[in-house]
Amino acid sequence: SLTLGIVGLPNVGKSTLFNALTRNDVLAANYPFATIEPNVGVVPLPDDRLAKLAEIFNSERIVPATVSFVDIAGIVRGASEGAGLGNKFLANIREANAICQVVRVFDDPDVVHVEGAVNPADDIETIHTELILADLQTLDRALPRLEKEARTQKDKRPALEAAQAARGVLDGGRTLFHAQSEVDTSLLRELNLLTTKPFLYVFNADEGVLSDETRRAELRELVAPGDAVFLDAKVEAELLELDEESARELLESIGQPEPGLHALARAGFHTLGLQTYLTAGPKESRAWTIPQGATAPQAAGVIHTDFERGFIKAEVVSFTDLVEAGSMAAARAAGKVRMEGKDYVMADGDVVEFRFNV
Ligand code: GDP
Repeated sequence: SLTLGIVGLPNVGKSTLFNALTRNDVLAANYPFATIEPNVGVVPLPDDRLAKLAEIFNSERIVPATVSFVDIAGIVRGASEGAGLGNKFLANIREANAICQVVRVFDDPDVVHVEGAVNPADDIETIHTELILADLQTLDRALPRLEKEARTQKDKRPALEAAQAARGVLDGGRTLFHAQSEVDTSLLRELNLLTTKPFLYVFNADEGVLSDETRRAELRELVAPGDAVFLDAKVEAELLELDEESARELLESIGQPEPGLHALARAGFHTLGLQTYLTAGPKESRAWTIPQGATAPQAAGVIHTDFERGFIKAEVVSFTDLVEAGSMAAARAAGKVRMEGKDYVMADGDVVEFRFNV
């Protein structure tokens, strides 16, 4: 499945956050056979619709969709030159589908800052720079070959031009993700450049920042079009120790409507370009993960590869229509249940029953 790689400077709260991400009893209950790797945090995607479906279908259990975060060894200035765990870091990040950068915005004299002071913009730039330098190395190795190919094969010219444009962007200190309208990076896929991956930023903030909308907007703008999530990693860790009532009180006391991990799961899902569809029955109400734009047979394939191969049609009702009708039978009677064929593109919140040959 798709993963986000967690990166950040030392002492920004990565371990604190990652520990919170891996402490999920929900998962152990729902995915008893999943081997959960020690460096992977699997987080349920909060979805209120599942409880509602479970009510309508009298389901025994609820199975949410999940998002996976991989803990990647610390990056420091000079990582692209092999400093610290540099090379290993780059190899790990190459395998992630998106980059989740933890950025420190909390003040705490007891927690040393590697660069001497808390400065989110500088910290973000430090990490970007290491990834940019790594991409420049990759490009510089590839360019002579791309030039040679373009000389003899006309259809290779666009790739060369994209590589040259990419070089310009990186030379200017920007990531390819942040300059996505300027370079057609789909032509450079074989190079697996790090900075073309989508970026998500987790601002590890204290109460002052969490409640300061202007400051949050500034930070958001700094990283756009990357997603931004604001949380207090220490509070997230504490929340997991508390019962529901105390957790609610703690959140209220810092003016937060929900745990930051919920927002993080949603943002991670969005950054990876994923969406869900739903199935429901007496056994379980469940959310399934598909890429945005997936067709009905592809969606069926997520449940079982045989479902994709033997796909006949999908019976689809939107979650809203189903809830309004109150039951599947009532939704059918009201003409709200559609028969969709193999070209149907799934919409978020579709409640589906597949018909297939085995
Ligand atoms: P890492 O090096 O990025 O993995 O950072 P750690 O998670 O080990 O955190 C470094 C130190 O900062 C630890 O002493 C944490 O307790 C502390 N810390 C982490 N998050 C927060 C936070 O949100 N607020 C405060 N005040 N301290 C934090």
